[in-house]
Amino acid sequence: MELRRRDILKGGLLLTTLGLAGRGWAGGPELTVLSDGFLTLPPAFLYGPLSEEEVAAAIAESGFPVDPLTPPCNVTLLREAGRTVLFDAGAGPEFLPSTGDLPGALEAAGIAPDEVTDIVLTHAHPDHLWGVLDDFGDPAFPEAVIHISATEHAYWSDPGTVETIGEARQSFAVGAARRLSDVADQLRVFEDDAEVLPGITALPTPGHTPGHTSFAVGGGETVIVGDAIANAHIAMVRPGVETANDQDPARAAATRPEFLARLAQPTTRAIGFHWPAGGIGRVTQDGDGYRFLPE
Ligand SMILES: [Zn+2]
Repeated sequence: MELRRRDILKGGLLLTTLGLAGRGWAGGPELTVLSDGFLTLPPAFLYGPLSEEEVAAAIAESGFPVDPLTPPCNVTLLREAGRTVLFDAGAGPEFLPSTGDLPGALEAAGIAPDEVTDIVLTHAHPDHLWGVLDDFGDPAFPEAVIHISATEHAYWSDPGTVETIGEARQSFAVGAARRLSDVADQLRVFEDDAEVLPGITALPTPGHTPGHTSFAVGGGETVIVGDAIANAHIAMVRPGVETANDQDPARAAATRPEFLARLAQPTTRAIGFHWPAGGIGRVTQDGDGYRFLPE
């Protein structure tokens, strides 16, 4: 595989481009990471029930270079002949003041919203889904097919979810149900490990949400991780540790060992939605845990 990579600082946005050539991928695909901004979430939401000391120790061990309380939001753009695909839609205008930068990032990359042919959702949390609607509450990507896993769609469309999800995420449930309903005409539901689009294969990674899905692209050489490895600075050094960042912490911890081993294959490159330094890099095994080596 021939790799070409460039970093462009454009209007304050870091665009990391990774071209994948060969293996029958004539003319593509090209992967670009676009910034939707960054999260500002309370420590208890991210790290409970770990103590401040435990969190600090794991962060120091991980060597992660960013403030973990303000993790970036990395939306992956895949372009190939006839197709412009976003992995997740960003947070849109109504989540946090520090998110919702995707439209500007797309503009800087020279892409109009109606050129986006597909949005492939990892899950339906606000920072990943709410960007399907624009400032006026209209579809932000009117020509796009929006792909979501059947499990994820069923969970967030269920009127009972708001009662069972817990107080901290009730607004997530209301917000997801409304947005999924507002873009219902654009939705296409896929089953567990389907080939969602030619060359884009779903990898079920439940736990962060019930139907959380990661995706293998480019013949499997790049994995769009989404939030399957949330709190990566902790989850990589201590994969078995459960934190409140995942809706089902035990299930997320059970998903991680096999998935991290998959990411650590020497030919695999991973893109994490909230990972630092553009989110693209290699995952390598290190003792009982793993390390993220940004490119
Ligand atoms: Zn997220």
